[in-house]
Amino acid sequence: MKITKLRSMLLEGPRSDHTEGQASGKISKLVIKIETDSGLYGLGEADNFLGVREALDFIENYLVGREPFDVRPIVSEMLYGSLPPHPAPTSDAFDEASQAGPHRRSMSPTATVTGPVVWAVSGVEIALLDLVGKATNMPVYHLLGGRFRDRVQIYLDRSSPREVDNLDAWRKLATDSLSSGFNQIKFDIDCTAPDCTADVWNRSIRINQMQKIKERLEAVREEIGWDVELSVDCHMHYQAPDAIRLAHELAPLKLMWLEDPTPIINPDACAHVKAKSPIPICIGEMLIAEQIRLFIDRDACDVIHPDVMFVGGLHEIRRVADYAELHYLPLALHSNGGCLAVIAAAHAAAAARNFLNLEYHFLDSEWLGAYVKREGLPLFRDGMLPLSDAPGLGVELDAEVCREHLAADESLLI
Ligand SMILES: [Mg+2]
Repeated sequence: MKITKLRSMLLEGPRSDHTEGQASGKISKLVIKIETDSGLYGLGEADNFLGVREALDFIENYLVGREPFDVRPIVSEMLYGSLPPHPAPTSDAFDEASQAGPHRRSMSPTATVTGPVVWAVSGVEIALLDLVGKATNMPVYHLLGGRFRDRVQIYLDRSSPREVDNLDAWRKLATDSLSSGFNQIKFDIDCTAPDCTADVWNRSIRINQMQKIKERLEAVREEIGWDVELSVDCHMHYQAPDAIRLAHELAPLKLMWLEDPTPIINPDACAHVKAKSPIPICIGEMLIAEQIRLFIDRDACDVIHPDVMFVGGLHEIRRVADYAELHYLPLALHSNGGCLAVIAAAHAAAAARNFLNLEYHFLDSEWLGAYVKREGLPLFRDGMLPLSDAPGLGVELDAEVCREHLAADESLLI
């Protein structure tokens, strides 16, 4: 079986407007399809971030003509390069790109650590695993070593209500989540009391803002009681002393974690916060494996939180999950994905012993949970994502939803 084509389709539609932090507007998602000469194909998802489409165009040059079974070698070559002589690309597209002059699309043959190439490769890896699963008649979690569980705990990202100064709005957002069947929720600290932000640049939380954050989250905790897990996300915003102060102020709420308290790639600052925080520290949503290793090695986190769409794919999740497990640290999974990506992440979650929970953002944007479908299975049931025994990811594109949300000048992949 040889890969014959890599195609992508941009879907676009409205996103939830229930939050202050996630303002209403449009959101788009890229669906990736890898086709073969056997007629089998694999599906993946990537975020439509700057440069991802261009990276996908270039990656196709490496994929066409290859066996899809070499998933890890293909991804490893994309992320970390290989020694020359490099295998000759086989596609006509590569020859055209190579002859197109100095402005041709290209990427390093040695290493591409973070950014659009990694985000694109992540979606490609998901599609390759879907394809290999279909070719071997195995669900993806079997390709990743087998499942520890057949349904996956979901936590909902709620950001904040639009009316942040209305405590009833906080209570309602929390109870609405519970009535939808979910029992783990998260709010965004930076969106909790933006009405009290004194300076958007100095990474500080003033005392009146701290008290508003505490009061609003206390209202949530009182409403939901102690059967529901609650966590908060700092979005990498704060200076270390205020992050520590925040952790002490919120300690009575018994949070599951305080996420990304300080700017993103400094394990030393995060270790300083962790050493003084009474709340577990969670990191990792935009990091690759080697960066997460630094945080674990420097004792800078309690929970790791990679994203299947940003870490390099499902095998890379397994790598960091196993490294964390050897340190007896839990794996949570960040997700900014729609239904395809969150189902893919659930296969990695099933195959990781130390898995804790998997994020979902888009409960109020129905189309983002509906552009793929699974035979006889809802996306969520009782706050969990149930897995099936179907080959690959077990998903098919929903033609009607895809057609309805196809972005301008895009072609339907069905
Ligand atoms: Mg986050």
